[in-house]
Amino acid sequence: MVARAARATDLADLDGAVSDCFACPRLVDWREEVARVRRAAFRDQKYWGRPVPGFGVPDARIGILGLAPAAHGGNRTGRIFTGDRSGDVLFAALHRAGLANQPTSVAAADDGLALWHTRIFAAVRCAPPDNKPTPAERDTCAPWLHREVALIRPTLRVVVALGAFAWAAWWPTLQQVYGVRPPSPRPSFGHGAHWSGTAVPQVLGCYHVSQQNTFTGRLTPAMLDDVFVRARELAGLD
Ligand code: SF4
Repeated sequence: MVARAARATDLADLDGAVSDCFACPRLVDWREEVARVRRAAFRDQKYWGRPVPGFGVPDARIGILGLAPAAHGGNRTGRIFTGDRSGDVLFAALHRAGLANQPTSVAAADDGLALWHTRIFAAVRCAPPDNKPTPAERDTCAPWLHREVALIRPTLRVVVALGAFAWAAWWPTLQQVYGVRPPSPRPSFGHGAHWSGTAVPQVLGCYHVSQQNTFTGRLTPAMLDDVFVRARELAGLD
């Protein structure tokens, strides 16, 4: 799997290769089980049921790093943050920030969504039970993330880490992609946390766009807007 990730010569190649990954037995079982049983509201749909590739432009200045696809969102539609409430919140914010051409992301095919300056990817590419991948699964999946970042490295300026899991998953990328030792101790995650190094992307922390955060008001649209305004500035877009 590591070799397959490293061999990917461009994002299309990487997206195709990751979609055919079976490296984590527990996650393979889960993604396929969810796709077979389905939620009642989607019973007439064919679920993707595979790893979910990144989405966005190849010359992205802003990377958005999530945790993992949702069982009935990305795992159903085949596109990250697509077809669930988390995606509704995220893409509405990206549209307000001038980073997406429309505020909704409902289906991978034919919904017309395009991103500007931005690529979205996850630390773990398969939907995990209870949205909780194990550390071993995170580490097994890391080569896909590292290769994706390597492919957009020429333009990537800032990474928005959605939640503490993504924040923690980012640091090994510095060593693997940039040859730079990660900071020690690791910077603490928080909403609005900012880290910058030399010749590597800056990192912004943002509470995850999960329903748990957005329904309770822990993360508001205004808070998301502040993060993406900052990301645009750090990326040199404004
Ligand atoms: S989580 Fe990552 S490494 Fe594991 S099976 Fe899915 S794509 Fe492969």
